[in-house]
Amino acid sequence: MAMNVQAIPGLPDRVNQIRLLTAKIVNDEILPNETKLWRTRHGQDVSDDEKAESRAIRHDIQTKVKQAGLWAPHLPEEYGGSGLSILEHAMMNEILAYVMGGAALFGVVAPNSGNQKILLKYGTEEQKQKWLIPLTEGKMQSGFSMTEPDNAGSDPRSIKTTARREGDEWVINGHKWFTSNGLKSDFFIVMCRTDDPDGPAERNGKMTQIIVPSDTPGVNIVRGIEVWGRHSDHVEIIYDNVRVPATNQLGNTGSGHQAAQDRLGPGRVYHCMNSVGQMWRAFDLMVERLATREVHGGLLQEKQFMQGFIADSYIDIQTARDLTIRCAKQMELGVDPRTDISAAKIFVPAAYERVVDRAIQVWGAAGVTGDLPLAAMYTGARTLRLADGPDEVHKILIAKNVLKRYHAGEHWDFGN
Ligand SMILES: Cc1cc2nc3c(=O)[nH]c(=O)nc-3n(C[C@H](O)[C@H](O)[C@H](O)COP(=O)(O)OP(=O)(O)OC[C@H]3O[C@@H](n4cnc5c(N)ncnc54)[C@H](O)[C@@H]3O)c2cc1C
Repeated sequence: MAMNVQAIPGLPDRVNQIRLLTAKIVNDEILPNETKLWRTRHGQDVSDDEKAESRAIRHDIQTKVKQAGLWAPHLPEEYGGSGLSILEHAMMNEILAYVMGGAALFGVVAPNSGNQKILLKYGTEEQKQKWLIPLTEGKMQSGFSMTEPDNAGSDPRSIKTTARREGDEWVINGHKWFTSNGLKSDFFIVMCRTDDPDGPAERNGKMTQIIVPSDTPGVNIVRGIEVWGRHSDHVEIIYDNVRVPATNQLGNTGSGHQAAQDRLGPGRVYHCMNSVGQMWRAFDLMVERLATREVHGGLLQEKQFMQGFIADSYIDIQTARDLTIRCAKQMELGVDPRTDISAAKIFVPAAYERVVDRAIQVWGAAGVTGDLPLAAMYTGARTLRLADGPDEVHKILIAKNVLKRYHAGEHWDFGN
């Protein structure tokens, strides 16, 4: 079933044009090939011929995306992207996420995309030429190495990996895990506590992000961690006396925490809008099945339990969508979006999980098979409630921001 995307009244022409162009590629190029593309990336028993065919289709679609001016929407044109604003990119994401693996076909691959944003903001021109451009052109892959098995990922202050300055080099020691894309990565951006005996005292022990090529001696990839019962490329890594040039540091010493925040803010909006796109697909699949499946002498759509699924899912999707677009608008207006981003980061993955759960229920056994995208969406939705800050941490942030206003003698203004 094709995605039904029409121009939205009141939106700037450019945003509508981006959405319609994206929908055309999704409907005409990706959806008819989705099973082939997805199976060769995640299926088993895939022949070499099938892989070659999938590569050719992928290349063809990516060429069409570039011709449409939609490649790497998160990056400016001078660095190989299409230079979309946050709102434009968010509004595009709900459409490209309708198909499995859609983002990669539009040049947005986590964690590369987050690393690209960091390189763009904190990298020197030399670093941009060496790492950012090849990443955007697809000639390199990368990982972001922050979380550690022995320390709470939801509390970045607990990070123990160190980088000690010796002459013109940083010497890195630490133990990380869940470095996504790790098996393919040409380099990692590693979050370290930097210790520079000659640097200013107030910066010592602060966090700094450092580029580490994956073939540097001492970078030991222990394993790809099994996730949801499947082998994955979220890797565990030991950095054992890894030496890199001091010039591999990103930004000023001690800017690592801020850089991580800069990465996560827009990233959460994009993830949420991707979730909206996936919910849209799950909704279409669910309603399509309800309208055609006969049980106990009638169509499923006639059963009130099932009608409740439609209504509840509709409410979940519209609410998730409005909340996320509100965040994107706030970011464009320069209004502090943090409270609403936290609200969206809690609400949207949970709504996504509920919508997909109902679609699975409607499809019965077929819902949990690899014949439909629902099972993959379900585990993806659940994972999102942990990654990029677990629900509880975002709830704490909302409460903190609200209480701060009331303590300052102000009430909350829900209109702004
Ligand atoms: C599929 C996947 C991909 C990932 N990719 C990357 C990556 O590329 N790079 C990277 O660096 N990391 C990555 N991560 C790691 C992810 O960012 C962390 O898992 C996340 O930050 C949570 O950290 P933790 O797992 O250490 O949980 P912990 O910090 O140990 O927290 C465990 C639980 O405790 C609860 N909790 C935490 N704090 C509080 C609190 N203050 N009050 C009440 N309850 C609380 C929450 O329910 C939380 O889920 C990935 C994770 C997954 C699952």
